Amino acid sequence: MKSYLQEELQKIESLGVYRKLKTVDSPQGREIILSGRRVLNFCSNDYLGLANDERVKQAAVEAIEKFGFGSGASRLICGNMAPHERLEEDLAQLKKTSCALLFSSGYMANTGIISALMDREGVVISDRLNHASIVDGIVLSRAKLERYHHADMQDLRRVLERLPASKHKLIVTDSVFSMDGDKAPLEEIVRMAGRYEAMVMVDEAHAFGVLGKHGGGLVEELGLGEKVDIQMGTLSKAAGCFGAYACGNEILREFLINKSRSFIYTTAMPPALAQAARAALQIIRQEEKLRRHLQECADYLRGHLQTMGFDTMNSTTPIIPVLVKDSNQAKMMSENLLEQGIFAQAIRPPTVPVGMARLRLTVTAVHTQADIDQLLNAVRKL
Ligand code: PMP
Repeated sequence: MKSYLQEELQKIESLGVYRKLKTVDSPQGREIILSGRRVLNFCSNDYLGLANDERVKQAAVEAIEKFGFGSGASRLICGNMAPHERLEEDLAQLKKTSCALLFSSGYMANTGIISALMDREGVVISDRLNHASIVDGIVLSRAKLERYHHADMQDLRRVLERLPASKHKLIVTDSVFSMDGDKAPLEEIVRMAGRYEAMVMVDEAHAFGVLGKHGGGLVEELGLGEKVDIQMGTLSKAAGCFGAYACGNEILREFLINKSRSFIYTTAMPPALAQAARAALQIIRQEEKLRRHLQECADYLRGHLQTMGFDTMNSTTPIIPVLVKDSNQAKMMSENLLEQGIFAQAIRPPTVPVGMARLRLTVTAVHTQADIDQLLNAVRKL
């Protein structure tokens, strides 16, 4: 057993994709203390800088005083506390759906939703670059998996045309792709789903709080609310908290409460977390200027990287890949930037396809132009 594990680790190392944890000893923010050093942070998904926001923290502290810390049991036993239901109402309001249901994390939402909705008789049609938690949800459901080329609507049509009309079908896509920073062609996906009688599920993990007038995500930006059956998203990125949601109609909520194993068989999220997320939601809804500043920072960084000749792929969002291709080179670039006081993670297979290693830069609304200039200067020296 031991030697098998060691051999596997050696293989991972020889492929240049060995992963190691780095310790942060400060709150999240534009600057963090990483292994004892202050560095500028360009790898966080805390897009609006809410992870260390006073209003969010205060909401959590007050809720701890009022509700204590743990929730004691699963929602269906005795862990369904008032903050959970209030947060669900707030989420449904922001997303303009009739209902929402909380999950403990985005990973658990995707695995729990897809495995509840689909079974071995059904087919899930999935973008090739969808997040790992979607892929794992499909595996758990035992449904047939049909993948289409990334954002390629001709390929999606090819897949749909071949499927019998009687098959239960679910098309699932990230709305903003986590490693490429591009947006899914949602209008076309929804049109195709209507034509071929498929359900549509959208993962708004990287769009929630970032896109749409009120931060409702790409579905809000495109005004597609009615046409998307399941809007899933996470509270761990722009909302700066933890946990996740599925938004949709009342039948969906009832169905998931009764069928979704990652909802049923786990302890409810701590009530203070739900209250903190409610405070974050209020900021998301009201502070459109944060989103504007975020987009300006992203455009500024992307524009300069492109002028310097880097391939930022099809990114249009605060996720900006710098395509390097070779895993070892991406790792070396990340290490070199760190020596210059910049934290930018290298993303390597299996998170991205082989030969597509990259630096994944993310900007946040708390970055300043001076921060981005410092990053660009460090990149120039690579
Ligand atoms: N979906 C996507 C597209 C993601 O990027 C992530 C997080 N990396 C998740 C789901 C999982 O969300 P969480 O971190 O809340 O588990």
